[in-house]
Amino acid sequence: GRWRNGKELNARRLAERGWRLVDASKQTIKCDSCGFYLNTALPDVASVDLIVYNRCLREVHESVDTCHEKTCTAKSRRPNFFTHLNEKSELSDELRSRLETMKEMKMPEGIEITEDGIETKDLLEIFPDESIDITMKKLAITGWEKHDYSSVRCCLCLRTLSLTCSFTPSSSHHSWCPFLDPHDPLDIPQWRVAYDTVVHKKTSLSDSLSIVRRSLNSSLITSTNC
Ligand SMILES: [Zn+2]
Ligand SMILES: [Zn+2]
Repeated sequence: GRWRNGKELNARRLAERGWRLVDASKQTIKCDSCGFYLNTALPDVASVDLIVYNRCLREVHESVDTCHEKTCTAKSRRPNFFTHLNEKSELSDELRSRLETMKEMKMPEGIEITEDGIETKDLLEIFPDESIDITMKKLAITGWEKHDYSSVRCCLCLRTLSLTCSFTPSSSHHSWCPFLDPHDPLDIPQWRVAYDTVVHKKTSLSDSLSIVRRSLNSSLITSTNC
């Protein structure tokens, strides 16, 4: 089922507070830390007064923070999605297990995956198996894994992309996706930091600036998936 309130409630904020969708039809979420349930159902915006609707929305927003057991740790936690960023071997394992899900997939004819700044020789160093489609390797690096035979999904923001038109994988995440979180001090996105770590790149300041400039340019002409 589809979670109808996904637009009104920021999925990342819910995840940071420990919530997970358990029943899409009833719009129910559950805190994994304390086990409390929360119903996020909102009235149909077209059939109630906007004031009523906004009050309901505000109540749900507040409950995301407060509707936990008194001692629940999820209430104040700020999770780190990238605790292992300096562990090269763990990172490699993670990238390889993402690629493993896609190893049977083939890019349809005419579909192009463009990702500036990822070099073929680096991809071969991380993923030596030459029988796997190189575009799948680019997708794995930028956070994507198999969803079904013709689409991929981000393991953190859960956006799905169908492989029916060309796109730039790193600019196709939801804007709040943790993979795009800037990493100090050079504002490099987290997926890129992982890539640099695995290929032992000593990123110089000028390289990084040109990467940032390139990704700025490509985000201005962001590809929209059809
Ligand atoms: Zn809780
Ligand atoms: Zn994402």
